[in-house]
Amino acid sequence: MMKVNSTYNNRESLLALYNKPLLELVFEAATIHRQFHNPREVQMSSLLSIKTGGCPEDCGYCPQAARYHTDVEAHKLMTVESVVEQAQNAKANGSSRLCMGAAWREVRDNKDFDTVVEMVQAVNDLDMEVCCTLGMLNEDQAVRLKKAGLFAYNHNLDSSRDFYKDIISTREYDDRLNTIDNARKAGITVCSGGIIGMGEAVDDRIGLLLSYMEMETPPDSIPINALVAVEGTPLEDQKPIEQWEMIRMVATTRIAFPQSVVRLSAGRTKMSMEAQALCFMAGAGSIFAGDKLLTTPNPEFNEDKEMFKILGLLPKEAFADGEKPVTEPDEKLIARKKQEAERALELELAREKVREEGFEPRKIKTVGSN
Ligand code: SF4
Repeated sequence: MMKVNSTYNNRESLLALYNKPLLELVFEAATIHRQFHNPREVQMSSLLSIKTGGCPEDCGYCPQAARYHTDVEAHKLMTVESVVEQAQNAKANGSSRLCMGAAWREVRDNKDFDTVVEMVQAVNDLDMEVCCTLGMLNEDQAVRLKKAGLFAYNHNLDSSRDFYKDIISTREYDDRLNTIDNARKAGITVCSGGIIGMGEAVDDRIGLLLSYMEMETPPDSIPINALVAVEGTPLEDQKPIEQWEMIRMVATTRIAFPQSVVRLSAGRTKMSMEAQALCFMAGAGSIFAGDKLLTTPNPEFNEDKEMFKILGLLPKEAFADGEKPVTEPDEKLIARKKQEAERALELELAREKVREEGFEPRKIKTVGSN
């Protein structure tokens, strides 16, 4: 088992690795990648925004924060039926993983969360890996999601502990670590990564990797995103990151965490197919497919299918890196459904009574009437 590469477990060695001549770096990453993964397989994942916008947090890159004036329209939680429909569509297009994102600060124990539990069950039933990104999560909520069949929980650290403070002020780095810990304790695989191109130094990118190295178990999945600068957010003026930086970050992450799945995530619309090919060479084992990444643009399914054909890549099957979770009955959900059914029955009986006995309007005594 080689979850962390002991040759590169400190700042100096990781920095030297990141700054290696590019093709040397890619070669080293490709060599490691081949030892632990099938280099022809790349997982297609889909990201679905199940509840959009109106978020009380202030993440500087995010168009879903209520305080920024962006084009994102807030939408309430989707229905289970429409999520299933979207999941089926994603699966038919080759996706084996569905990540559902809700713009919440944290999960609350309410009806919406019951609905998310139901969504997880339904998508797991489709034999897709289900991942959720719902904000902060406590231990009990993590256990409920695990029992529903959740395969992975996504919660990004975004950047180094130091630079994080420049980007987000409404929650602490440690809050994030705590949520990751809760997911891990519940037996859910962890997906956590970062964003580059927010104005951070290379040292901060290394700092992010070091934060993962400090964990008892590093994330099973590490998404690497390039900032998509959205008008109206504090980072709207950031210039797009050079493609070479994405390749370097993917390769360095691959080498540092040989067994994790490195995901080439947001920012692909600004990358050429050649640059993406170098990322796959350097160990990226997954992309997000579908024309939207939550709210930002992404290449269409057909463009990616064409790229897979040209590069000779194969879409990775679901659960290639772990067992399919078993869905267990959820007591809270059952209780709510029972309550709803009882209420519906009561209403129906009342309606029937009215039909049988006729409706006699209640007399209301008003002032001045006899
Ligand atoms: S990244 Fe998530 S938590 Fe931050 S503002 Fe956007 S939706 Fe809210």
